[in-house]
Amino acid sequence: MTSLFDLQVNGFAGVDFQQRNLAAPDLRRACAALRAHQTHRILLTLITDEIEALAGKFAAIEAMRAADPLIAETVAGYHLEGPWLSAEPGFCGAHPREKMGAPSLADYRRLQDAAGGNIRLITLAPEWPGSAEFIAAVTLENVVISLGHTDASDAQIDAAIAAGATLCTHLGNGVPQTLHRHDNVIQRLLARDELTACLIPDGIHLPRAVLRNFFRAKPPGRAIFTTDCMAAAGAPDGRYTIGHAEVESRDGVVRVPGQPNFAGSALTPDQGLDNAASWLGISRADARALFSTTIARHFGITLPSFEP
Ligand SMILES: [Zn+2]
Repeated sequence: MTSLFDLQVNGFAGVDFQQRNLAAPDLRRACAALRAHQTHRILLTLITDEIEALAGKFAAIEAMRAADPLIAETVAGYHLEGPWLSAEPGFCGAHPREKMGAPSLADYRRLQDAAGGNIRLITLAPEWPGSAEFIAAVTLENVVISLGHTDASDAQIDAAIAAGATLCTHLGNGVPQTLHRHDNVIQRLLARDELTACLIPDGIHLPRAVLRNFFRAKPPGRAIFTTDCMAAAGAPDGRYTIGHAEVESRDGVVRVPGQPNFAGSALTPDQGLDNAASWLGISRADARALFSTTIARHFGITLPSFEP
């Protein structure tokens, strides 16, 4: 059976990958737990923080990859989600707004150096000035660009696609609770066949009917699955962190207590596969491809097979 591939994993099995003092035995334990959930390859995702703090985290995880084959294999690369996101209320999600700003090639180089060249995916909001030039420059280095936590206009989305953007991060999330019924960024992104939509099939980030509508709206192979999971995935309900944020996981919902936004999911990839197959009425083989080979191909990653 082909391994699943999750391009947005912020933590797992009680381990928060965002912590500056992340310990190798904890990351190893999270990687082993991901395997137990059919997931042998991920893009380890770091969310908005100060550039030097992010560089420190990348360097520390690179050292763990160099020392441990399980970590090296499982962490096939990195997804950098922030700090080049919308700082507007609602669009910023659970990210710290004060650390956001326009994309900078100098900051990108600092982070890519710390990450050993393994940043494979960047989520950004293309309404920041200089975004098109930034996208054009980093896609030349085989970094995939995804649009997310954004309120981009049609013209800004056009420019991002022309510059090389190809994905939408957790479509339908990273937006305020209420939006204009037609004139909103979800519709603007969903309408673009050039962009592959990343969907979270947990029934919470997207109610089942919305998941079905978004899935049907995209051409075949242009809607894929991810968990955007954090430490609460593969772990019991309770209190966890995602970076500086203290969050609570209850009945599959992860939130900063008292706030409406979700702060990542508690979904495991294998449960996401089961949900997608059953809620979308597609075959398990098709659902597995959309949670593995179809998306791994964007990154040139070959997935291993395993015995269930
Ligand atoms: Zn996000």
